[in-house]
Amino acid sequence: MSSRRSRRKSDRRREAEEAVRQLSEILVDCLQSNTEIANNAASQILSIGKKHGVRTDSSIKRTICRTCMQSLVPGKSSRVRIHSKTIKTTCLRCGRIKREAIELGSEEL
Ligand SMILES: [Zn+2]
Repeated sequence: MSSRRSRRKSDRRREAEEAVRQLSEILVDCLQSNTEIANNAASQILSIGKKHGVRTDSSIKRTICRTCMQSLVPGKSSRVRIHSKTIKTTCLRCGRIKREAIELGSEEL
């Protein structure tokens, strides 16, 4: 009984990872075009991640405010400033400020 239970648990985790991956794609696709869908995807990514311990890609995390559980669109719902090697993202809904160090040598543009 217990082995059956653990198998189900890992299946659910894989499903959760797959769901987060799909929701991340939806989030990125809809960020600029459909804020409502992007917000929905953002809150689902956070709740699935919390429930199943699924880690979200850092590029995706950057587009979600963990306080509002909604999407952050630069120039729309967030303000992005760069201060001496630090990216400062301010959520315009709740005012949460996220600071992130710029990794030197990882520019891909
Ligand atoms: Zn916020």
